Amino acid sequence: LLDEIIRMEKVEVVSHLAASISHEVRNPLTTTRGFLQLANESEGIPAVQKGYLEVALQELDRAESIIRDYLTFAKPVPEEIEVLNLKKEIEKSINIIEPLANMNIVKLFSESETCYIKGNTGLVQQVLVNLLKNAIEAMPSGGTLSITGTVEKTVAKVTITDEGLGMNKWQLQRLGEPYFSTKEIKGTGLGMMVVFRVIESMNGSINIESELGKGTKISLMFPLSSFA
Ligand code: ADP
Ligand code: MG
Repeated sequence: LLDEIIRMEKVEVVSHLAASISHEVRNPLTTTRGFLQLANESEGIPAVQKGYLEVALQELDRAESIIRDYLTFAKPVPEEIEVLNLKKEIEKSINIIEPLANMNIVKLFSESETCYIKGNTGLVQQVLVNLLKNAIEAMPSGGTLSITGTVEKTVAKVTITDEGLGMNKWQLQRLGEPYFSTKEIKGTGLGMMVVFRVIESMNGSINIESELGKGTKISLMFPLSSFA
């Protein structure tokens, strides 16, 4: 029992440390991003230099999203729970992912009913964006990515479908394991871990169907909330 208590204290300390370091590192990143953005918007910048700035901005965004995934892992309980309109959340996530989709020649399709779920908008965005990113990354030569929101009896259902590489049994089994990634240096293996954590904390569930060479369909189910 004592060992267990000591182990839990250690986890607590490490989580706390991770959370505060991530938090501190975020501020200078945000400032840097702001100045790069300003430089990028100023007039008369030669195309080559503009290209450099674009890459710098994208890489900063990548760093920010990795930090965010670590933070969610260290602090899985959402602080502020609100009633969220699923349709709005889907629209927001589409706005965030659109540039990445365009770069990868991925066509986006989205449609949603208006319905309400309880959760934290930041965390829900993180879940949707992590899933949409994976879907885009699974379609290196383009395709269609669809996200829909529907009401089924007592649940709100989000379905994300891609026409990408798909996963085999082994991949499906390891999905969500910390650091499991098949993307070599481009992957962190944190995205799905965060997805599973957040869904669990919202009393939701996830269902994954995937076929190698055909694509993947991921459904999320959340308890419906009455408005307010
Ligand atoms: P990362 O994206 O950094 O690799 P994730 O946790 O988001 O980490 O995903 C883990 C792994 O699961 C990916 O590397 C990939 O092999 C697989 N995967 C996740 N989503 C999909 C998808 N939509 N299609 C094919 N493979 C996927
Ligand atoms: Mg990912």
